[in-house]
Amino acid sequence: MISTMSDLQKRDLNHVWHPCSQMKDYEDLPPIVIKKGKGIYLYDENDKEYIDAVSSWWVNLFGHSNERISKALADQAFQLEHVIFANFTHEPAVLLSEKLVQLTPYGLHKVFFADNGSSAIEVALKMSFQYHLQKNKPKKTRFLALTDAYHGETLGALSVGGVDLYNKVFRPLLLDTVRAQGPNCFRCPFNERSESCNVPCISYVEEKLKEHHQELSAIIIEPLIQAAAGMKMYPPGYLKQLKELCEKYDVHLIADEVAVGFGRTGTMFACEQAGISPDFMCLSKGLTGGYLPMSVVLTTDEVYDAFYDDYETMKAFLHSHSYTGNPLTCRVALEVLKIFEDEKVLDQIKEKGAYMRELAIRTFEGHPFVGEYRQTGMVGAIELVKDKETKEPFPSKDRVGYQIYKIALEKGLLLRPLGNILYFMPPYVITKDEINIMIEKTNEAIREFFAND
Ligand SMILES: *Cc1c(COP(=O)(O)O)cnc(C)c1O
Repeated sequence: MISTMSDLQKRDLNHVWHPCSQMKDYEDLPPIVIKKGKGIYLYDENDKEYIDAVSSWWVNLFGHSNERISKALADQAFQLEHVIFANFTHEPAVLLSEKLVQLTPYGLHKVFFADNGSSAIEVALKMSFQYHLQKNKPKKTRFLALTDAYHGETLGALSVGGVDLYNKVFRPLLLDTVRAQGPNCFRCPFNERSESCNVPCISYVEEKLKEHHQELSAIIIEPLIQAAAGMKMYPPGYLKQLKELCEKYDVHLIADEVAVGFGRTGTMFACEQAGISPDFMCLSKGLTGGYLPMSVVLTTDEVYDAFYDDYETMKAFLHSHSYTGNPLTCRVALEVLKIFEDEKVLDQIKEKGAYMRELAIRTFEGHPFVGEYRQTGMVGAIELVKDKETKEPFPSKDRVGYQIYKIALEKGLLLRPLGNILYFMPPYVITKDEINIMIEKTNEAIREFFAND
């Protein structure tokens, strides 16, 4: 395979260490050199076309090289590219903070800027801890997180993560997090059907709260979809009850909407479906439509006020990143939010989501190795199982998802499964015809794999 590599592929492998990859895998499957992107398509150096069914790691909303966003970015680049954000500000940041406060659930009035999802999590954890310290609750030093949670890769974020694949090696370095069994609808221990479910599994969280609330600063959760764990979906009722428990036990709720924010679940933010507002909301990924790294943490006046005092009290939140509040990213994010309004994107998501669901169910549910097709908004997932009756998973060493990924790539479809779960998280600009093609190619790839297996 090495000999068939292009010049750029060889030179890439001389020096580049790719994320979340066993680099030895690149011997068989060298990095695909992408030359340009347009809409839902990526084009490699041989002009081969790929449908970007995963929105390039869940960030792209309105297609690659989007006309409006590119123009806004270029315009801003000639105006002001960056300025220190302590003691200074600029119009794009002001407009963006106003817009975010207006769009997010009630009570979130303050916006803190960071530059990727993981650092937003760090900010929320640190703010929650320092809040309690300054409110004379110095014992509240720990966090509660769910099994199968994913909140990013920095040490604080990994500490509240529950996916062994990512955090097991680093366990000696991580914070001592309280862990509660999270919802598991596909393999529900209570045998509930999600449509009528009263979320009895919330009792796992309640038990931990009863036991640990005095030492707990916050609960962190991915609303409606535990994405990195394999697009595990659960009903809004769970969030509603969780919010009530947080109030009862005086523990903050951190909503990590890094993956699900900005329309992915069918509403602008997933929390809306439960009618709740958290104490902290972390946003990133879709915020800049896949253009530039940025994240924000929104919080309440109550939290903000606990830090607001004379300088000598040393109550300030002394956290910063060099690129905090970067004007280019703010301007791009503003354009993204304008597109949501101008093009009635949430209505489009509703319609395209319904179409995708109907077609996907028809296509996949009869397949002998498809345990379930599930969907929330514009996130669809196919869970492959070894045995449909018992829901026994394929052993991870078989790398079933990865094999199907390789077949799909040949067909011009970028899927990148999570273990045995294939998923669709396409840019919202995808058309119904393109949904047909995406689902058809996926179906072919699955069938070819199992025909040859
Ligand atoms: C991706 C993700 C993160 C981390 O964001 P990065 O920008 O990759 O650091 C945090 N939480 C959730 C739910 C995510 O999906």
